[in-house]
Amino acid sequence: MGIALIVHGGAGAIADNDVAPHREGARTAANIGWVILANGGNALDAVQAAIVSMEDDPAFDAGYGSYLNRDGQVEMDASFMDGRTLDAGSIAGVQHIKNPILVARRVMESEHTFLIAHGAERFATEQGIALIDEKEMRAPNAIAKWQECVNNPPPAPLAQYVPVHGTVGCVAIDQNGNIAAGTSTGGMSFKRVGRVGDSPIIGAGTYADNLLGGASATGWGEAITRVVLSKFAVDALANNRHPNEAARAAIEMLASRVGGTGGVIMVDRFGRIGFAFNTPRMAYAYLTPNKSVVASC
Ligand code: ASP
Repeated sequence: MGIALIVHGGAGAIADNDVAPHREGARTAANIGWVILANGGNALDAVQAAIVSMEDDPAFDAGYGSYLNRDGQVEMDASFMDGRTLDAGSIAGVQHIKNPILVARRVMESEHTFLIAHGAERFATEQGIALIDEKEMRAPNAIAKWQECVNNPPPAPLAQYVPVHGTVGCVAIDQNGNIAAGTSTGGMSFKRVGRVGDSPIIGAGTYADNLLGGASATGWGEAITRVVLSKFAVDALANNRHPNEAARAAIEMLASRVGGTGGVIMVDRFGRIGFAFNTPRMAYAYLTPNKSVVASC
């Protein structure tokens, strides 16, 4: 069984001078996850490690570096799914968690599938994950972007006018054929307080099923949610369809049904990689046994 791993670092109009940090951050994350898989580790640990690396990198809209909401604060969402058991865990609207993906994984391992805001944070502390001051999560680049929005408020609907995203995600298959997927985000820049997009919604932002494959989405969350993009993409792997084709079909459906923009990354049960996006750019990197890191943006 071939191991494989792909990460994304968001789809959107990534500015020219943000390209290199996105590409290199994606490459680093993919390598971190790959080392775990190559040493016989499981897909869950590989996905977690890759996402933690991007959450800690302020180039991305996840963890430290998350976009700020209209009140100038971070509010983060994350999800995790185990394709072996179909266990899934999500959190939304957390403000005091350094690495939201770690809490999403703990939720996945708990009796619940989704915890929000202070309940998710209380659960995190019960799990031994320390809370931090929300101000520590505000990176200088996110504050500058927020200030731009304050000075020059984008017109509604926000998603169509601020098409710059840096959500992160990872999908991997390990040597036992187990598939895992995860996604973590700070959401849309200058979002309403309490707004939650697709990223923590199982089926929309993330999906994994050993019988077919796994997917993580990025882009305009309201559109992605309405078409349940990741589940659509995974279902499109039926009949041994190549993940590139399945990803393309999903993005075409996103565009044609709801005028959505975004991207999706995939790994199928044979260890084949696929991705597609209809935004100007998407940051991604992947590895298979035959290919070293291919990173692009
Ligand atoms: N999909 C995310 C959201 O709507 C944003 C992104 O992918 O960057 O919250």
